[in-house]
Amino acid sequence: MIGIKELIDPIKTYNPKADFDAIIRAYEYGLKAHEGQFRASGEPYFVHPIEVARIVVELKLDESTIKTALLHDTVEDTNRSLRHIEISFGSEVAQLVDGVTKLTNLQLSSLETKHAENFRKLFVAMSKDLRVLLVKLSDRLHNMRTIRALPVDKQVRKSRETMEIFAPLAGRMGMQSMREELEDLSFRVLNPEARNSIIRRFLTLRKETDDLIPKIMNDINQQLGKEKLNARVTGREKKPYSIWRKMQDKKEGFTRLSDIFGFRIVTENETDAYIAMGAVHRRWRAVPGRFKDYISHPKSNGYRSIHTTVSGRDGKRVEVQIRTNQMHEVAESGVAAHWSYRDGERVENPFVVDPFKWLRSLNDGFIHSENPSDFFEHVKLEMFQDQVFCFTPKGEVIKLPRGGTPIDFAYAIHTRIGDSCVGSIVDGQRVPLWSKLKNGQSVSIIRSDAQKPQSSWESMVVTGRAKSAIRRKLREEHRVESIKIGKEIARVSLHKIGKKATEKALNTAARKLAMSSSDDVLAALGSVELTGDELIKTLYPKKVTGLSLPFLGARHMTFIGLEPGQEAKKASCCMPIPGERIVGIAVRKEGITIHAIDCDHLEDLDDNYEHWIDLRWPEGEAQTSHPTCLTISMYNGVGVLGRICSLIGERGANITNIDFFDRKPDFYKIIIEIHVKDLKHLSDIMTSIEADSDISVVVRTREGSGRAELGENNLSPI
Ligand code: MN
Repeated sequence: MIGIKELIDPIKTYNPKADFDAIIRAYEYGLKAHEGQFRASGEPYFVHPIEVARIVVELKLDESTIKTALLHDTVEDTNRSLRHIEISFGSEVAQLVDGVTKLTNLQLSSLETKHAENFRKLFVAMSKDLRVLLVKLSDRLHNMRTIRALPVDKQVRKSRETMEIFAPLAGRMGMQSMREELEDLSFRVLNPEARNSIIRRFLTLRKETDDLIPKIMNDINQQLGKEKLNARVTGREKKPYSIWRKMQDKKEGFTRLSDIFGFRIVTENETDAYIAMGAVHRRWRAVPGRFKDYISHPKSNGYRSIHTTVSGRDGKRVEVQIRTNQMHEVAESGVAAHWSYRDGERVENPFVVDPFKWLRSLNDGFIHSENPSDFFEHVKLEMFQDQVFCFTPKGEVIKLPRGGTPIDFAYAIHTRIGDSCVGSIVDGQRVPLWSKLKNGQSVSIIRSDAQKPQSSWESMVVTGRAKSAIRRKLREEHRVESIKIGKEIARVSLHKIGKKATEKALNTAARKLAMSSSDDVLAALGSVELTGDELIKTLYPKKVTGLSLPFLGARHMTFIGLEPGQEAKKASCCMPIPGERIVGIAVRKEGITIHAIDCDHLEDLDDNYEHWIDLRWPEGEAQTSHPTCLTISMYNGVGVLGRICSLIGERGANITNIDFFDRKPDFYKIIIEIHVKDLKHLSDIMTSIEADSDISVVVRTREGSGRAELGENNLSPI
C-alpha cells in the first residue's frame, strides 16, 4: 500500500502551501475506518481510496478534493457518519463526500442505452459541485483499472456503465485522457477480440514500417529546429477504442496511418504554435479538408489546438496537433483545470473554461443563475432545475418535469399503468399520489384493475401525456354514464306521448339527427346536448303537445313594480324562480337585474340602497320555465342517476345540464340544471328525489352560471 509520503510529495510540487496535516489526518482517518476491509483482489480496501486520491492529485486538484477522495467510501462502506466527517473535516469536505456517496448509491443496474443521456444528466444534477463528479470519475477510473478482480458478469456491467455514462461525461468535461482511458478499459472487457485485432495490427505496422513514430518525431523536430523553436514533440499510437470507433463510423478498415498515429507539438506560446504550423506545412503538403484551427475557434469545453494532416514521410499521412502548454493542460484535464494549482497558487490559465460557461454550453437554457461568481468556488450544477429523474424498480430512468407526481411517473411508463394506479411507494415508503418526486428517487406504482382515472388527478399531473390520457379515459367513462342516463331520459320522454324507446326508434332518430349510432343519441341525451323534447320532435313532429314548458326569458315577463317600458332580467348569480321573494337592482347601463332576496350578492350592493326596486312576480300561472340548479350527492350505483333523471322528467321538468364532481368509488356529486315552473314545482321535485334511498343530499345551488368557474376552482368537473 502506498504510504502517505508518496501521496503528499507530488502535492508539494504544485501546491506547497496545502495543509498537509489535514491531508494526513484524512489519510489516517480513512485507513482506520476501512481497517479489516478487503477488495475483491484481496488487497486492503484502503488501497482504493489512496489510488483515487492519487488520480485527483495528478489532476492537480485542491486539498478538499484530495481529502474527499481519501474519505469517499467511508460513509457508504464503514460505520463513520457524515456528521462525524463534518466534525472532523468541516462542512465543505462533508458535502463533497455526501455528493459522492449519493452518486455511488444510484442504482445503475440494468442500464439501457436509451436512458444513458438521462443518467448522465442525473449525475450532473445530483452532483451540486463539479468536484463531486471529478472524484466520482477518479473512483471509476481506479475501479476500471482493477476490474479484473471481479466476476465476469460484474466486469461487463461496470464496463457498460463506464462506456455509456462515465466516459462520455469525462469527454463533456473536456477531460480527454480520462475519457480515453475509461473507454479503453471498458473496451478491453466488452470487446476483447476487436481490441486484440487492433493491437495485433499495431504490432504488424510497427514491424512493417520499422517503428515509424520516432522517425516522424525526428523529422518534425528537425524542421522546428530550423525555425529555432523551443517545442515539445510527442507521438503516439491512438487508443484502440478510438480507432475502433472511427472504423465503425466510417465503416472501413484501418489502413491510413493518420487514423492510427497522432503527433503533437506543444509550444511555449501562441505565436510559436503558428510558426510551428507554418514549418510543418512548408515541409510537408497539407491534406485538403483536414485543417482545423481551434485556437481561433475554440470548442465550447475550452479546447484549443491546431489540427492538420500532412503527407509525411513516403507520402504517408500523419495527423499533427499543435498547441501551447496552457492549451494542452486544458485539452487533457478540461474543466478540472479550473481547480489546478501550481506553486501553491491556483493556476491562472487563460484558456481554462469557466465552469459556469461550461455548464451553459453543456446544456444551454437549463441554468438560471444571474451571478457567475457564485460558481467560482462551488460550482452549483442546477442546470436541470426544471427536470427530475426517477427510477423504476427495474432501474430505468424516467425523466419528468419538476413537480411531476407518481401519477405522471405511472403514465410515463405506460398508459395502462397510469390508468390503474392506486398508490405509490417512493424509496420504500408509501406516499400519496400527489407527492412531488425528487431527483434519484426510486418509484414503484401500486395498481388495481378496479381503478379508473379520477377527475381529481388532472390537477395532480404536470405532463401532457398524463393529462391527455386522463381526459380521454374520463370522457370514455362519461360516455358510458351518459348512455345510461340517456336511456332513462329517452324512456321517460317517449312514455309521456305513449311511445317506447325501442332500438328501432333510436336508430331512426340517429339517422335523422345525422348521428352515427343509437348510442350517440343516448349519449347526447345523457349529456343533455339533446333534450327529451327534441328527441320527440325528431321522431314524432306532430306529437309535440306543449307538455313541457316553453322557455321564455324573464325579459318577457311583466314584473309587478316595473315602470312602463322598463325591462328586467334575472340575475345569473341566484337564478330566482317564481314563488321566491325578489328584488330589482337598477344598475346604470346594465338595466334592472332581479335577484332573490337572500342572494349573497345583495350584501355587496347595500351601499346603493336607493337602487333597490321592490318587485313581484306576475300573477297567474305563467307558462314559462325557469332554470335552477340542484346539487345532489348520490350513491354510485347502477341505475341511480337514471332513476333521478326519470323522476325529474316524470314531474314535467327539463334537464338542461349535468356536471359530475367528486366521483368516488362509493358516492358522487352532481350539479344538475333543470327548468321548473316555480318554487312549488321545485320543492315537489326535490322532495321526490330526497325520498330515494340512494340519495344522501339534495340542495338547491344558487351558483347557476357561475358553475363552470366553481367547477374549475373548487371541484373538478368531468
Ligand atoms: Mn470508491
